[in-house]
Amino acid sequence: MDRPLLTARLEQKLLLSASAQSYHLEFSIDELSHFDFTAGQFISCAAVDDRGKTQTRAYSIASAPRANQFDLCINRVENGFFSNLLCDLEPGQTVQFHGPHGVFTLRQPLTDSIFIATGTGIAPIRGFVEWLFPESGEDRSQGRPIWLVYGTRHETGLYYQKYFEKVAAERHNFRYLSTLSRPRDGWKGLRGYVQNHVAEIVTERAREHTEPVVAVAEPMGFDIHAYICGLNKMVSANRDKLKELGWQRKQIIFERYD
Ligand SMILES: Cc1cc2nc3c(=O)[nH]c(=O)nc-3n(C[C@H](O)[C@H](O)[C@H](O)COP(=O)(O)OP(=O)(O)OC[C@H]3O[C@@H](n4cnc5c(N)ncnc54)[C@H](O)[C@@H]3O)c2cc1C
Repeated sequence: MDRPLLTARLEQKLLLSASAQSYHLEFSIDELSHFDFTAGQFISCAAVDDRGKTQTRAYSIASAPRANQFDLCINRVENGFFSNLLCDLEPGQTVQFHGPHGVFTLRQPLTDSIFIATGTGIAPIRGFVEWLFPESGEDRSQGRPIWLVYGTRHETGLYYQKYFEKVAAERHNFRYLSTLSRPRDGWKGLRGYVQNHVAEIVTERAREHTEPVVAVAEPMGFDIHAYICGLNKMVSANRDKLKELGWQRKQIIFERYD
């Protein structure tokens, strides 16, 4: 069955990385006054290619709900059909989509949470952070410790760095850790893969809580979740690491881009 398509009009376009040719795109929806979705969900963009075939690709929404608007964070893939179409859009131009879709959303009731992302996997996580810590309005984090571990190869691939640093400076319960696997000389931040830093957080937290294993299910549910988004190799590495540390399957929520 064909799904009804909506029209997203590009309002703003910001280059996130010249070397990676990644863009932050802000859209408004022509047909709606309010776009109802849950932070972390994705939309399916649709367009007809040169051969008359309709191509559809999923893109995570990189913002919290905001009137009839939403943001995307797009990485240009060499010879890729849809990523190039989106990255080449200019303000005023449109793209069609259906959605929202997906269950990569914060589990309720909210628990302590570790957000783990690489590359454009940061998109839905930005939505989580905007929703939990809105610039105006009520903080929804309930004082829960929230960690964001964001990794990439080079510094130029860390998107929204200033935004996350600002939230971390303003909110005592939000910790932002960025790590590079191939840093330039002089990089003063963390090094290595995200899973190594996640393991440190989990081990440290277990020590602080003086519980035998953090994964123990409480009558009301789990006391911590991990939310992982990015390419499959990274998602698997983190899931394996958390399982090794005694976590249960349901504590690990993930979205794979490939
Ligand atoms: C739930 C979900 C959410 C997603 N959210 C985002 C998002 O927020 N931002 C974003 O940029 N992408 C996101 N993606 C990936 C996106 O759907 C496309 O796969 C990506 O944009 C490439 O599509 P394309 O049409 O440009 O390339 P295609 O024409 O489909 O592929 C061209 C070539 O690139 C390779 N390729 C395909 N995908 C990738 C990739 N992700 N990285 C590197 N090479 C690739 C293919 O193997 C092929 O060789 C998401 C995917 C899923 C499943």
